[in-house]
Amino acid sequence: MVCAVGSNPDDLEETRFATTTPSQTLGEAISFFKSAQKSRGQIQALGIGTFGPADINVQSSTFGFITNTPKEHWSNTDIVSPLRSALGDIPLAFETDVNAAAWGERKWGAARGLDDFIYITVGTGIGGGAVSGGKILHGEGHPEMGHLRIPHDTQMDPFPGSCPFHGDCLEGLASGSALAKRWNCNPEELEETHQGWDLEAHYLADALANLTLTLCPARFILGGGVMEQAHLFDKVRNRLARRLAGYVSLPELEKFIVPPGLGAQAGILGAMALAQDLILTIPPRP
Ligand code: ZN
Repeated sequence: MVCAVGSNPDDLEETRFATTTPSQTLGEAISFFKSAQKSRGQIQALGIGTFGPADINVQSSTFGFITNTPKEHWSNTDIVSPLRSALGDIPLAFETDVNAAAWGERKWGAARGLDDFIYITVGTGIGGGAVSGGKILHGEGHPEMGHLRIPHDTQMDPFPGSCPFHGDCLEGLASGSALAKRWNCNPEELEETHQGWDLEAHYLADALANLTLTLCPARFILGGGVMEQAHLFDKVRNRLARRLAGYVSLPELEKFIVPPGLGAQAGILGAMALAQDLILTIPPRP
């Protein structure tokens, strides 16, 4: 859990702690915010970017809840109400972590000036957030790009996949957890020349091809621990171009698939950007 109080990337008071049980974790967040308020004054708005699945529909009776997550202790947990009762009835934005990160990249990072782009994190799990027409893309709920189905040639890759819901979905085949299980080691220990990286790029490129064909983004931002393997970027770019076979005209590949401009701070800065948007829409007090 990362919490911060501030107003921009250069004015950020941040803390990080382990996500344990909801009451302990939210309790730590609340004490951080309360103590920050003592030194900085009243917090004006709160932005939350959470792991999912989460209910982000403000009309829903379970708005602000984590829903059916496999994460222990967190299934069907209301995370908005405890924060709201502790911090007062301030404007509050509740989004997925990847949607928040996408928004942060648009305000301060690698997607400045873009109305159509996709942010994907490839870490323990895989998640994606899209900005389409200048707005965060929602449907009835939030997209779940990590669980896209992609071709899985079981002759080439007999690993059955690690997603508890779908087995060999994108996350089941290409997340950091999938890499660790398939190769039986910490993925960071795999040499740059290991065949596992070609396979990883192959799966990511398939997902990016589907997303390109669905949403026509101007850019993909690929973040998360697995993408810290910088050599993966060119592998994904080349495979994507081959996959689309010239049917779609793509921008210059080095600008089409890029790392996050905000690094690991994309999520927390994005949550701050979401909160700031709320402040800007509130009419000034007379
Ligand atoms: Zn899945």
